[in-house]
Amino acid sequence: LIETQTKDDKKKIAVCGAGLVGCLAACYFAERNYDVTLYEYRSDIRKMKVVVGRSINMAMSVRGREGLKRINAEEAITSKGIEMYTRMLHDTKGNMTSVPYGKSSQCILSIDRRYLNELLLNEAEKYPNVTLEFNHKVKKCNTNTGEIIFENTSTGQEVKINSDLVVGCDGSYSAVRQSLFKDKPVNFSQNYNSGYYSELRIPPLNGTFALPEKHLHIWPRGDFMLIALPNQDFSFTCTLFMPLEMFDKLNSAERVIDFFQEYFVDAMNLIGKESLVEMYFSTRPSPLISIKCDPHHGKKCVLFGDSAHAIVPFYGQGMNCAFEDVVVFFEILDSMGFDNIDRVLEKYSHTRVPDAHAICELAVRNYDEMKYLVTTRGYKLRKKLDNFLNFLFPSSWVPLYTMVTFSRMRYSDVIDARKKQDKIIRTTTWITCLSMMAVFGFYIYKSRSNFSNINNFFKILRK
Ligand code: FAD
Repeated sequence: LIETQTKDDKKKIAVCGAGLVGCLAACYFAERNYDVTLYEYRSDIRKMKVVVGRSINMAMSVRGREGLKRINAEEAITSKGIEMYTRMLHDTKGNMTSVPYGKSSQCILSIDRRYLNELLLNEAEKYPNVTLEFNHKVKKCNTNTGEIIFENTSTGQEVKINSDLVVGCDGSYSAVRQSLFKDKPVNFSQNYNSGYYSELRIPPLNGTFALPEKHLHIWPRGDFMLIALPNQDFSFTCTLFMPLEMFDKLNSAERVIDFFQEYFVDAMNLIGKESLVEMYFSTRPSPLISIKCDPHHGKKCVLFGDSAHAIVPFYGQGMNCAFEDVVVFFEILDSMGFDNIDRVLEKYSHTRVPDAHAICELAVRNYDEMKYLVTTRGYKLRKKLDNFLNFLFPSSWVPLYTMVTFSRMRYSDVIDARKKQDKIIRTTTWITCLSMMAVFGFYIYKSRSNFSNINNFFKILRK
């Protein structure tokens, strides 16, 4: 067992997990002059040929960008992102309809996950007070004392360190969170969504994008859907979301091709039948998990990102919310100081847990919207009504998607605001229906003697 000691009086922060949020959190602590060590289970992804992991690209919006802005990294990221202004819906014949995300200037950004992670690692490494330790896997920690035991995965040795704060950024299957469970009562739930996902790729066509690039393409098909996000190399990364039983049924090349022929013919023509079959069978579909836990902290520990709240990707908010965790935590820490870390952690959980729960719920609901509702008349009508009311009352009537994606309104407030909007629409609809019935009844009453059949009634109405 190797003991690593604190070198000086600076507070020692151990960030566990150098994924997206771990790197960002390390930068924030470093900016404030803490002694930061970033421990990562994998080796350095900047030196790897292929990084095995989740989605290849992801959508970034206002909350994520705010997280980057505060370490002056927003421009570097956005310059490599591709702006997506609308949902481009594809029907089974390949016809496309575009539905704007918000106002004409509002867009989300398609970003390469690996590029983002590498850039954030570079940013963290720039600080002299940040040390990067790869091949360090958290085995367990004591969230009351700040002691962590790692396995050095290249030597097999155990490494024990002490810290003033353990920052758990080790993803959905967090070992830090697991240790927290032993040290204090934590409410926890995890749900596997019925949808699984698998990634495919539409290659460039004649040296450019095969589909209009400034859009997030969706092929909504009821119980399943395909989406595609543009990449810098002119390709699109497609994600097929389906129940596992459907994936299992497509167990031969012919079945896969027939299925795509029926539901995603335009996408298949661009992917190519051979590549489609090869890609489809090259990986097992991955499950989608939702995780909620409460609180997000222990005595000397805090959880950020997926370790605290894994979110299904249908709102494109997992990383955005994770980056906002860091922003919110530092707003509290900066106002109260590390000397009050107990109260900082309490306040952080108190503030953030309801919002994490809210976005978990919103993301699950958005699956229905993406795979099915977007094609219905009711959805389109509501969207138009929301946009119209937003035009009339720009600050008091904001569409749901805009509140989630283009604002930093608390997610829990978003749910409340939407409930109020629903209530107003319901009440207005009832009042309108009742008023029409009253008018109808009144005319019948007044005109009883004037008409003997319904035709007379309409004549009176027209007058
Ligand atoms: P991770 O990115 O999982 O990073 C965790 C890190 O911890 C990894 O580097 C891992 O190697 C390391 N680690 C794990 N265990 C240990 C251990 N024991 N010891 C040390 N290190 C460890 N979000 C969006 O905002 N927009 C999107 O468009 C979007 N699309 C998505 C699409 C899909 C298909 C999926 C599955 C998710 C998507 N998300 C999206 C969510 C997003 O990927 C996550 O919310 C985000 O990656 C969370 O970052 P994180 O740093 O908390 O976790």
